Amino acid sequence: WLKPGNKIIQAKLVLLGDTGTGKTSLVLRFVKGQFFDNQEPTIGAAFFTQILSLSEATVKFDIWDTAGQERYHSLTPMYYRGAATAIVVYDISSMDTFFRAKKWVEELQRQGNQNLVMALVANKWDLESNREVETQEGEQFAQESGMFYTETSAKTGENVNELFCEIAKRLAKAF
Ligand code: GDP
Ligand code: MG
Repeated sequence: WLKPGNKIIQAKLVLLGDTGTGKTSLVLRFVKGQFFDNQEPTIGAAFFTQILSLSEATVKFDIWDTAGQERYHSLTPMYYRGAATAIVVYDISSMDTFFRAKKWVEELQRQGNQNLVMALVANKWDLESNREVETQEGEQFAQESGMFYTETSAKTGENVNELFCEIAKRLAKAF
């Protein structure tokens, strides 16, 4: 199923961001195509793999989801060590989660991994009527930080596959 000469990239992907922003939901939407409305804030430590085939490469994501440690500010650097890509998630209906996302980005930048592909994800796009964080604020911060920016809804599925495809493309370029 692989074309000859197609690159295969194995990439550790980590999700960061406040508890309740939809990290687990984004992963489940991407990996299983499902959304759970009354999902527990976390479903426990989770590890998923998913393969995306692009024309330029095949990317195998090793996805690390938190076990909810972010709630107690006890995520250790071990969690994101060796990551090729990081998704930092906030909830457009909560300014607090945007501030926390900024903290996570700073923390990642302190690790000094120049090649890390970073995405800033404004999730819960379907809650537009409760929006506290304007698109422009997110975009501007992402641009200053060398990340790409997108708005998603794990609930409706909007932009979720596109997010992972964009990451895969950037990894294919970087590797
Ligand atoms: P995590 O703590 O960051 O992993 O967040 P979860 O994925 O557990 O989601 C927390 C809550 O937000 C759950 O009740 C989800 O159903 C809900 N949720 C997640 N993504 C969305 C979304 O895009 N829109 C809406 N309306 N709710 C969402
Ligand atoms: Mg979770």
